[in-house]
Amino acid sequence: MSLACTVLGHRYRFSAEGDVLRWHCRRACGSEGQKRYACSGQAARYAAAFDHEDIASLGRRAPYFGLLPLRLWHWARRRGQQATR
Ligand SMILES: [Zn+2]
Repeated sequence: MSLACTVLGHRYRFSAEGDVLRWHCRRACGSEGQKRYACSGQAARYAAAFDHEDIASLGRRAPYFGLLPLRLWHWARRRGQQATR
């Protein structure tokens, strides 16, 4: 996972392929997933809704840049815990 994704969160893009909702991080960090829905209409609706939500959250996320040192600290702490396993 890239540092940008760890600190800022993934920037997911959502798309529907038939009845399957797929998402991947646009920073190409390798984070992705999929979920199958009952019909293609449902998958398309969720893809449109989630994609819109992700773009809208960009503006909401901006004020939290003041918390960056705290998030870096959490990230460093998690890394430390992983190393001891
Ligand atoms: Zn990512």
